[in-house]
Amino acid sequence: MSNIPIANPYLRGIIHCHSQYSYDSLTSISAYLKVAQRQGLDFIILTDHDTTAGSRALKAAAALRLPDLQVPIAAEYCTDEGDVIAAFIDGDVRARKFADFVIEVREQNGLLLLPHPYVGHQAPERIAAACDLVEVFNCRTRESENSRAYELARSLGKHGYAGADAHFARSICGAVVQVENRGSLRSSILDGSPSWPALRSTSRWEFGASQLIKAWKRRDPALALRMLRRAGEQVVGLARNTRATARS
Ligand SMILES: [Zn+2]
Repeated sequence: MSNIPIANPYLRGIIHCHSQYSYDSLTSISAYLKVAQRQGLDFIILTDHDTTAGSRALKAAAALRLPDLQVPIAAEYCTDEGDVIAAFIDGDVRARKFADFVIEVREQNGLLLLPHPYVGHQAPERIAAACDLVEVFNCRTRESENSRAYELARSLGKHGYAGADAHFARSICGAVVQVENRGSLRSSILDGSPSWPALRSTSRWEFGASQLIKAWKRRDPALALRMLRRAGEQVVGLARNTRATARS
């Protein structure tokens, strides 16, 4: 074992966030660099949907403009069992069948993270068992689903982490994760007991806006209409609540 003291006992950063390389986000790579610099972040695990292009672009940009920022290659993949994050991989994972996906990620010595276990997964217990870490707080997910995720990680003895799941620059720091510095970022994420001093849930408006971006990027007018109708219902609901509060 090395006797060289580790300069920084903790590393702070973001796990699970999206950029313009995702179908439902427009956030630029330079926005990530700006936030990282302003907040003094040590790492960003950028997890665009089904592509490592965002993390590769951020890694290249950081090497030039913010060399202390660590950016592992990562993505959030849509497998046949739901979304799964692969991080610290060399390049894109091709398999979408979960069993094959796990093999391919392990062949690349990557880590597997289970985001929002109770959103979009039919068998979260089984998937979590095969993953290294479980997302026990997601800024876009309901409190009840986050509580269940927390219990799931606890019951399986897995480390939990908080995922910002940011789709907009303003929500990048919704969940800043701190890990003990174990020498490399990979070991620190895996064994460094992640903690998150402050969390900020994403507003429903932001969720709706990312769905509208998705509809626009995918040329899906039906989804756009659905989201606009939902937004309209929320405005009406808000107005009713405000009137009721004013009367009482
Ligand atoms: Zn996500």
